[in-house]
Amino acid sequence: MSKYIGAHVSISGGVWNAPINAAAIGATGFAMFTKNQRQWVAKPLTDEDVAKFSDAMKAHNYTAQQVLAHDSYLINLGNANPEKWEQSLDAFIDELSRCSQLGLDRLNMHPGSHLKEHSESACLDKIALGINRALEATSGVTVVLENTAGQGSNMGNKIEHLAHIIDKVEDKSRIGICIDTCHTFAAGYDLRTTTDCETFFAELDRVVGLSYLRGFHINDSKSTFGSRVDRHHSIGQGNLTMETFRYIMSDPRFDTIPLVLETIDETLWAEEIKLMKEFAGN
Ligand SMILES: [Zn+2]
Ligand SMILES: [Zn+2]
Repeated sequence: MSKYIGAHVSISGGVWNAPINAAAIGATGFAMFTKNQRQWVAKPLTDEDVAKFSDAMKAHNYTAQQVLAHDSYLINLGNANPEKWEQSLDAFIDELSRCSQLGLDRLNMHPGSHLKEHSESACLDKIALGINRALEATSGVTVVLENTAGQGSNMGNKIEHLAHIIDKVEDKSRIGICIDTCHTFAAGYDLRTTTDCETFFAELDRVVGLSYLRGFHINDSKSTFGSRVDRHHSIGQGNLTMETFRYIMSDPRFDTIPLVLETIDETLWAEEIKLMKEFAGN
């Protein structure tokens, strides 16, 4: 199987439940948090946690490249406030360390927000500085920048923002991108037809480079085109089309990276995964 298709599964009860939950819905890839995403500080992972996670990964035949970890929503490496920025950096370093402990190789992050406290370009520089510091403090895990809908003062809605950050990251081998289909559409890049998809991915390749792709978030969009509102929907129920998902699933450039549903009704995930696998020809 060349496509790794799954959903963002729960770690309730322990991190080792992520691979178990993923296998139960027929996923060949998945996303997970490595701690409670609404808290700044988490209990360190114990050797037993790590062993149970590694056993569950092996038992269900998952390898690191099938998994896209996601960091806490509290982290903002674009914060102009020095104390808050340091707090975010510490939490981000902890997230990367937890991935490394679990044998995971990539961590998805929302770039950050300027909160109207400094300019967009100062914010992007601050994010890159934070990533450089975090990469120096850790090893083995790639930081994956997710494009955003651009809600509020969130950066990352323009693909130029991702390019700006990558340009300033020193270790290019440990920086990547994740494209969220809902965010892309809400940010004003159309994906409704095959031609739209061809146009967007050609532009992404020109501005950022498809070689940086480390994952996808596969979501339909309750938000309207260009609304800069971040509202996901179940596949086939939002403003994107089946052509969008068929395009992504059948394009060999998107093989061997996690393609992860963050759709709103988890009771539909098994069915949605099955449909994506059909589009992928599996
Ligand atoms: Zn996403
Ligand atoms: Zn979102």
